[in-house]
Amino acid sequence: MNQYYTQLLPYLERNHAYEAALALLSWDTETLAPPAASENTAKYVGILSEEAYHILICDEVESLLKKLSSKKEQETLSVSEQAVVRLLQKQFKKLSCIPPKEYREFSELCATAQTVYCRAKQNAKFEDFAPTLEKLVDYTRRFASYRAEKNDNLYDLLLDEYEEGFTTDILDDFFAKLREAIVPLMKQVIAKNDTIKKDYNTRNYPEDIQEGFCRFLSGYLGFDYNRGVIAESEHPFTTSLHNHDVRITNHYYSDNLESAMFSAIHETGHALYEMGVDDTLSGTPAGTGISMGMHESQSRFYENMIGRSKEFWEPLFPKLKATYPEELADVSLENFIAGINKAEPGPIRTEADELTYPLHIMIRYELEKDLIAGNCTVSDLPELWNKKYKDYLGITPKNASEGVLQDIHWSGASFGYFPSYALGSAIAAQLYHYMAQQIPVTDYLKEGNMVPIREFLRDHIHKYGAVYPTNELLKKVTGEEFNPDYYIRYLTEKYTKLYHL
Ligand code: ZN
Repeated sequence: MNQYYTQLLPYLERNHAYEAALALLSWDTETLAPPAASENTAKYVGILSEEAYHILICDEVESLLKKLSSKKEQETLSVSEQAVVRLLQKQFKKLSCIPPKEYREFSELCATAQTVYCRAKQNAKFEDFAPTLEKLVDYTRRFASYRAEKNDNLYDLLLDEYEEGFTTDILDDFFAKLREAIVPLMKQVIAKNDTIKKDYNTRNYPEDIQEGFCRFLSGYLGFDYNRGVIAESEHPFTTSLHNHDVRITNHYYSDNLESAMFSAIHETGHALYEMGVDDTLSGTPAGTGISMGMHESQSRFYENMIGRSKEFWEPLFPKLKATYPEELADVSLENFIAGINKAEPGPIRTEADELTYPLHIMIRYELEKDLIAGNCTVSDLPELWNKKYKDYLGITPKNASEGVLQDIHWSGASFGYFPSYALGSAIAAQLYHYMAQQIPVTDYLKEGNMVPIREFLRDHIHKYGAVYPTNELLKKVTGEEFNPDYYIRYLTEKYTKLYHL
């Protein structure tokens, strides 16, 4: 092994130890920690984060990275090692160009911003959050400008943090195609929406029984309980300490059958990605999923393409009915499939169905792009938000907490994050198209055999961790870079068939 790379490894390992501890604290805060713990825990998180930062952002690592970037040394590195160096350089560049004093002030602002945001959301008062949001936008623009080169679009730099290689040009084209196809499709669907009944969904489904069924579902998809656990939290999420310790959460509502089941499938998709990363990459910057968008592609592939298909439920529906014999007595497989795919525009992103979901993302994308470019101000947001909801989804939010304040992302300065959600769905459709050409996916689903599907994803995507950027990986798997046409076709065909349009 390259001597400089060998010298780099202990830094990576120490940094990862802190990161794993931080992930564990965060998991604990969301699942089991007592309410009074939060203040001290936040302090310790601050200390551990700072330590983790200093392990990597130091002269020794800088000098090793410099040596490792030379052509001569690069030639001696394996593809995975080159990826580790590249990812680390990117992280280093991002953090080291920010003056430490400003970074600390920004971290402190972020720590309080969430509380300010939560209170403003509770009271549905955007004006209470606006001054904080203005500062967050300011810092974001300033930090991006520190690493910008001449003529760089600042929002492109933010996008690059979540989805390397994706630019406003690519996304503008993607969302324009979506808008053109989905807005009219949605109008046709709404006109026929009374044809699908799903009152069964809100009958009585005891939480403990739901939990049992969801555990079964995750295992059925391949969640390895030897390397993972499932707990409860307010909002379902996945976290990974390393590829042998991957954790997901769920939330059970006794008057909603679908919510927890599809969360279980979604989070299992994320978990399988993390569990499938090759052991040799674990603990390095390449030892996790490549990007938010690729991660969402895995969760949404399982949730939507697989989990909402008739073939998937053919072997499972009798078990679901046996689990809830009274509540589902009058529900056929056909009713159930129509119900779980029903589309209805609503104001809340996280409750949106597969068809209207990308429109919620498009609205956020357009707004934050304008905000970062200086084409609109924070105080313009509520009005613009409502106008776009009216234009694209035909609805007006009741108040700010149901409107512009509904998502937590901006309070954490996560500008550039939202597009990944829509990209994830589109990547999932592209992957599904190619997978179906290579293996008989629907036959496996009907047989209840999930192994070949999981193995396909592991061999083509999961095992590589973050070694290949999204577009490079897509090209390896599907023969082409990101192409939104598969997604548009998938949605159009699916809803045309479901609603007999
Ligand atoms: Zn997700």
